[in-house]
Amino acid sequence: MSAKIISGTEVASQIREELKQEVTALKEKQGVVPGLVTILVGHNPASVSYVTAKQKTAHELGFHSIQDDQPEDISEENLLKLIDKYNNDPKIHGILVQLPLPKHIDEKKVLNAIDPDKDVDGFHPVNVGRLMIGGKEAKFLPCTPAGIQELIVRSGFETAGAEVVVVGRSNIVGKPIANIMLQKGKGANSTVTIVHTGTKDLEAHCKRADILIVAAGVPGLVKPEWIKPGACVIDVGVNRVGEKKSEKTGKMVPILKGDVDFDAAKEIAGAITPVPGGVGPMTITMLMKNTVKSAKLAAGLA
Ligand code: NAP
Repeated sequence: MSAKIISGTEVASQIREELKQEVTALKEKQGVVPGLVTILVGHNPASVSYVTAKQKTAHELGFHSIQDDQPEDISEENLLKLIDKYNNDPKIHGILVQLPLPKHIDEKKVLNAIDPDKDVDGFHPVNVGRLMIGGKEAKFLPCTPAGIQELIVRSGFETAGAEVVVVGRSNIVGKPIANIMLQKGKGANSTVTIVHTGTKDLEAHCKRADILIVAAGVPGLVKPEWIKPGACVIDVGVNRVGEKKSEKTGKMVPILKGDVDFDAAKEIAGAITPVPGGVGPMTITMLMKNTVKSAKLAAGLA
């Protein structure tokens, strides 16, 4: 039987609709407007498109949103001063510095200067620690892993007691999603294994997984026969494997593939995310969710 396709596009649009209603109610009943600033240094075309997409969504949800463009040659000192300004701005609840930064700026120093209570990306060491502690301590979950958890929960898969295998141990996907799934609580409480290039028998671990989360960045790494029949497969990988002509615009566009052979895997899995249209659309949505939470926390409403 063919697997249920978990559409990140649909789930993201559902969450955005919920957020829109929440933002309207916050404004009307509490006079609270979530505020998000995105800081862009220079004109890297990919960064410009990411920041534009974030601002567009923030605007659609009714946020107070600011796009702060800074020149490529801004000094580290001035960038730190700018972050300090937004740290102290009560109208701003989320600060996002678009990466990568120019080489003369220490990225780590800049990200660590963001007030952890406005770190809606969830990468500040304080928030990484809060996630480890779990429960109410975990204020802002990093956006891609938080999106993965939402996809699993909303697809109706039981996470409590499930064997979750995470392929990849990066700080932005593998480690945080493993931490999220092992917490004691709703949508988690799983038995988690992380596998990586040092793992002896990748196949054996994958075959045990009730929920298999693959974030390696290697196209087709997970073979269909490694999937347990009926498992939930979340394919985080986004790999450019070529180019094709877009039917809509006639322009050349990248062909994207995940880390799992989707066509074969969907005949074995119980549910699976496609690439594109799976995890990808969730990331910006979870950034917005974190910003709303930050605004509520600042107002003593959460
Ligand atoms: P990363 O930093 O390169 O980490 C990849 C991880 O996979 C590493 O831990 C690596 O192990 C492991 N790995 C690589 N090849 C492996 C193999 N053959 N066997 C076992 N483990 C292997 O990548 P990332 O930033 O986590 O991203 C992973 C993928 O997700 C990429 O395709 C990226 O584009 C995609 N992604 C998508 C979104 C989104 O959709 N919103 C967001 C973030 C990332 P070692 O640690 O041992 O090297």
